[in-house]
Amino acid sequence: MSNVHELKYLQDQVRELKEQGVYRVLPVLEGANEAEVMLNGKAVINLSSNNYLGFANHPKLKKAAIEAVEKYGVGSGAVRTIIGNMDIHEQLEVELAKFKREEAVMVFQSGFNCNAGAIQAITNKGDLIISDELNHASIIDGVKLSKADKAVFKHSDMADLERVLKEKRSNYENCLIITDGVFSMDGDIAKLPEIVELAEKYNCMTYVDDAHGSGVLGESGRGTVDHFHLHGRIDFTIGTLSKAIGVIGGYVAGRKVMKEWLLHRGRPLLFSTSLPPAAVGAITEAVALLSSTTEYTDRLWHNANFFKEELGKLGFNTGSSETPITPVIIGDEAQTVAFSKRMLELGVFVSPIIFPTVPKGTGRVRCMVTAAHTEEQLLKAVSVFEAVGKEMKLI
Ligand SMILES: *Cc1c(COP(=O)(O)O)cnc(C)c1O
Repeated sequence: MSNVHELKYLQDQVRELKEQGVYRVLPVLEGANEAEVMLNGKAVINLSSNNYLGFANHPKLKKAAIEAVEKYGVGSGAVRTIIGNMDIHEQLEVELAKFKREEAVMVFQSGFNCNAGAIQAITNKGDLIISDELNHASIIDGVKLSKADKAVFKHSDMADLERVLKEKRSNYENCLIITDGVFSMDGDIAKLPEIVELAEKYNCMTYVDDAHGSGVLGESGRGTVDHFHLHGRIDFTIGTLSKAIGVIGGYVAGRKVMKEWLLHRGRPLLFSTSLPPAAVGAITEAVALLSSTTEYTDRLWHNANFFKEELGKLGFNTGSSETPITPVIIGDEAQTVAFSKRMLELGVFVSPIIFPTVPKGTGRVRCMVTAAHTEEQLLKAVSVFEAVGKEMKLI
């Protein structure tokens, strides 16, 4: 008799995860995502969210979301190309384009889905995509969906990028260089000025996924392109509305013709329902807030620098971050999970990040400092790092 429906092959694989000490149980958040949260029934300091600016539970964003629900309902009712394109979707794209200092913006339902849809739409058979080896999973998946040929360059290694260009560029029609703006696991910033120079030298287009740069880098969070003053020289800038902006969604910013084309060939826009009114209302308010003040990004950077300085005194390996993302590298996968578990017992939630999200042997807990933390909360977190680090003989 067949036992195929017991999914024995998955049971075996899950058992293996347990044996390796990397089996995951989802933490349960009771209440809003704040600097201090109720997690699994316990009050803890939250060092694990992408809610950089504290917008996820911001009163003004909530009010805007509620107003949008009152006027537009809870769902958009269709994909954008049929009748799910409301005036608030149009208005959001106008405001976002202004904020990003680009001609046009096309909004998607998430950053993930933006990469899954945009990369395949803007490349063809006979083209070449060159991608940084540490690019985000959604870029890797997006590239897989493209009919173009693919090549990878060593992380942020400009000599290696040029090697690939020299070897391959002349065999292809169009060439697209793709990089994260900020690398989410280490917090380092892409070498965009050099990438742009190489792109121009070899007649390539550039695609920057700035999920961790939007709302963080540049003037009032305008992103990595703004940080390096490269407006007009990056062809496709991807941002997320799910991290610093605090809600959900993603977008491509660039030329008007990019937007026209994605409207016809961006599959998530054609085959998946548009963002709900509450999200659109809240995001529009977030963009207005960032356009009116640098208060949030200033506080984010103040907190990030303060935390890094205090943590740096303890002697952990904190990698090469240039942004508020602060990795504390432990190494071994099981030890990383144990470290995070002990931190949680002592009142600090800092999530473990292990293979396959990062390479084997570079397990880490990744601290995400936000504008919403107080110095007191950050100091308490540092003291728990010290206690656990000593207990596990890491410092
Ligand atoms: C988080 C992230 C995404 C996905 O964004 P979502 O809006 O959460 O889907 C895409 N790219 C990069 C580089 C990211 O860090």
